[in-house]
Amino acid sequence: MAPSLLGAEVDRGVPLNVGVYIGAANMLSTMLSVEELIKLFKGELEEEIAFSRMTRNRITYLTAPLAIGIKDHMGHFILSDDDLDKTFEVTSKAGLIFMSHTQDPDHAERLANLSKGQPLHLGHATAAGCGTHGDPAESMARVIDLCKKDNITAEFVTTMLRKGRGSREGLLMDKKAQELAYQALEQGLVKILISDGQNDATMKGFGDTRDNIPALLELAEMGILSLSDIATMTYNPAYLIAERTGNNCVERKSRSFGNRGLSQYNRK
Ligand SMILES: [Zn+2]
Repeated sequence: MAPSLLGAEVDRGVPLNVGVYIGAANMLSTMLSVEELIKLFKGELEEEIAFSRMTRNRITYLTAPLAIGIKDHMGHFILSDDDLDKTFEVTSKAGLIFMSHTQDPDHAERLANLSKGQPLHLGHATAAGCGTHGDPAESMARVIDLCKKDNITAEFVTTMLRKGRGSREGLLMDKKAQELAYQALEQGLVKILISDGQNDATMKGFGDTRDNIPALLELAEMGILSLSDIATMTYNPAYLIAERTGNNCVERKSRSFGNRGLSQYNRK
């Protein structure tokens, strides 16, 4: 129901350009096979199959192709290898982003192994540098290492890159881990910065949009990024989404993610 609920907000007049991720456990919970799920997200699933094997609500399946991705979340559910294989197959064939809640390096490495070259995006990857699942600097280094693979991209949380290293409502990053994150940005291993939510929201993320612009200016002042790297919050995420989902609204320029770029995984 998520895409239709969000669509209703937009119809009501909320002036936002938004995207929705569907939880992997939810996606796998109906009677639809992998082939049928791929058809569903491409908008090609026959109505009688959707009605008998997925949902009796027409809006739910009609808006499914509007989802931009599937989210794996180790804090809510841990899927079997078999289910993760299915999820990778659906996301890579249906033109969806596979995004994983990144915090525990063991989990991120497990997903990287199971991806077998299929696209994987590590959400709020700086959370690995907060020490919730092992040594923070070592955990951050392991997650950054995964970003060297061509099929893996990641994003960092702006709030965690600032002097305060995070927020009380989210998680606090370790100083050494923060240094490693700066290096990864400088080297271009990570090209996307995000806020991961609002601290004053009911459902909090790890950071806050209020930190986005200050973080960019501070990173430029520190010489880690240049001011033109505002692309880390504009062009780069739009480019990644366009590549993964096959939505050609973003003009393809010379910037590429990974040595081979992402085009090989394109749906179209
Ligand atoms: Zn998350």
